[in-house]
Amino acid sequence: MKKIALAGNPNVGKSTVFNSLTGLKQHTGNWSGKTVSNASGLFKYNGIEYKIYDLPGTYSLISHSKEEEVARNFICFSDYDFVIVVCDAVCLERNLNLVLQILEITNKVIVCVNLMDEAKKKNIHVDLKELSNILGIPVVGTSARNKNGVQNLLNVLDNNEFKSFNLKYSDQVEDAINSLIPLVEDKVKDLNPRWVAINLLNYDSVLYKEIKNYLDYDLLNNKVIKNQILLIRDEIKVSEEITNSIINTSEEISKKVVTCDNIANNFDFKIDKITTSKLLGVPIMISLLMVIFWLTIVGANYPSELLFNFFAFLEENILNFFNTSSFLSRLLIDGVYKVLTWVVAVMLPPMMIFFPLFTLLEDLGYLPRIAFNLDKIFNKCKACGKQALTMCMGFGCNSVGVAGARIIDSPRDRLIAILTNVFVPCNGRFPTMITLITIFFVGVNGSSLKSVFLLTLIILFGVLITFAVSLLLSKTILKGVPSSFTLELPHYRRPQVLKTFVRSFFDRTIFVLSRAVIVAIPAGALIWILANLYIDGISLLNHISLFLDPFGKLIGLDGVILISFILGFPANEIVVPIMLMTYMSTGNLVEYESLESLKMILIDNGWTIKTAICTLIFSLCHFPCSTTCLTIKKETGSLKWTFLAIIIPTLIGIVLCFLVNCISYFI
Ligand code: GDP
Repeated sequence: MKKIALAGNPNVGKSTVFNSLTGLKQHTGNWSGKTVSNASGLFKYNGIEYKIYDLPGTYSLISHSKEEEVARNFICFSDYDFVIVVCDAVCLERNLNLVLQILEITNKVIVCVNLMDEAKKKNIHVDLKELSNILGIPVVGTSARNKNGVQNLLNVLDNNEFKSFNLKYSDQVEDAINSLIPLVEDKVKDLNPRWVAINLLNYDSVLYKEIKNYLDYDLLNNKVIKNQILLIRDEIKVSEEITNSIINTSEEISKKVVTCDNIANNFDFKIDKITTSKLLGVPIMISLLMVIFWLTIVGANYPSELLFNFFAFLEENILNFFNTSSFLSRLLIDGVYKVLTWVVAVMLPPMMIFFPLFTLLEDLGYLPRIAFNLDKIFNKCKACGKQALTMCMGFGCNSVGVAGARIIDSPRDRLIAILTNVFVPCNGRFPTMITLITIFFVGVNGSSLKSVFLLTLIILFGVLITFAVSLLLSKTILKGVPSSFTLELPHYRRPQVLKTFVRSFFDRTIFVLSRAVIVAIPAGALIWILANLYIDGISLLNHISLFLDPFGKLIGLDGVILISFILGFPANEIVVPIMLMTYMSTGNLVEYESLESLKMILIDNGWTIKTAICTLIFSLCHFPCSTTCLTIKKETGSLKWTFLAIIIPTLIGIVLCFLVNCISYFI
């Protein structure tokens, strides 16, 4: 079996090339850094079996982030037959930097110039033959999204014609490299001695450590080598020279092979002038988010109702079929089945609308513009602009947002993004928020647009809290300088609507839903037991809520609301149903007949506008759901940070609710 490494800058279509070769479905999206873990796949061509590794996107082999390190280490130290470097035809020059760096490690390189269709649209022409002549390796043009050129890529796989291309440095640097090669060549195992020599001169401590580990030998402990390096470093600024040579060579090659008509390029520029302008950038962003929320909320109602009816019909038939009311069957039907189907009915429809719409924006290339617009504010809070992207993902599901924080290079900035992601209300909290907004502030027959407007205000409040907490964390436990903004603005690309819908369904909707379902099962059983075990004629659930009541009242809530949030830990969707079940002591989750009847139940149980405001605040600021907590533990690898991620929002929620409660006595 032959092994192939698939490398390239972020967002050049690597995953798309990978998918078209292997038939596997890697997530693709139009912004840098979403391929955060290694994927591998198998395919067969001309009777030969190939294993291909999709490496995380990297601009350079001098790595800056964990993902870049993964890619770099694979290329430098793994065993493979050749590397396919995927490049963006629209900005070939920058992509060539990586090609040149990889060529220093191995000459077994195939260049795949992807996005040829986009280049054509922008009147950019790439002379693939000339590029192949200059580099001495196969060069193939593809439009992987339309599968164009993929056959050509397959055809060159059994090519054995790899010449050796050496980047030419200044005479001084070349002399230095040549003086080192004889000293290291018998000590570097199968590494390229020229590459090792260059890296000894252009010293990077992290990479050097990897080289040392690989060789199991410290080259710098060798006196002859060390003295030679010190001598050279005294004379020339090697690292600057090396970087300049790479950049200049890329530029030279690019000049020879790329011809372009600039006027066509202005399209992106013109649109960006509006979408990233100081005046319109943020309002456009908010309006787009509002449209997405509105479509999600309005569109989810009907399918949710259908699902509810379907599950109720199924429940009735199951009950009729088994015709039993034993403890176990009630636990399974009234407890597990009800909570499970409730979660699915409330969660599935909005996710099926939100995720595809969000993925469309992602595909179009708009998300990085959001990060760009918010970068300055984030920097003022000592956080980094990419956090805005993780927040956007958090709207769908906070656990997706937390996992997405991997796109942030600096561990400090990443932790800030993880600890604050919960202040973005996820899809699971929207129904609760919308319901309360509608019945207490807009009116049952009020316009859904007004609800969306108020919801947007709450979201903006969450964003403000995110800024404040980010700043607080940076001034206390996570001191440091935010990493500079390196997320580039990709070219706008026409999204593929149908594919987007299918992909977001499998990648995101099913992923989140399955996690929620796994926790809903034991939670359903627990909730039912608490609601149906009676002590002194009162259910355990009501006992706990009575116990929590004084504290709840202190912060403008009550015991029932608190226990509902606690039992809603598996999924925020079930907070309101648990509330109703406890207020009405039904022993089962209950669906309200209408918003009007829900309002009556809440008011009968002492709810006022203040209770609604405090519940909205607590919904925005409280511990993350179980799925998100698990993800935080997985991403940070630390119980301490997971604990902080739980405690920080909860404390903030308690303090804010307490303040509202106090203020209400003066009004
Ligand atoms: P990666 O980060 O390098 O893995 O890039 P992806 O495979 O995720 O692709 C990034 C974006 O470019 C996605 O929106 C793809 O649909 C799109 N894309 C990939 N290849 C092509 C192509 O050949 N033509 C066009 N127009 N879009 C492409």
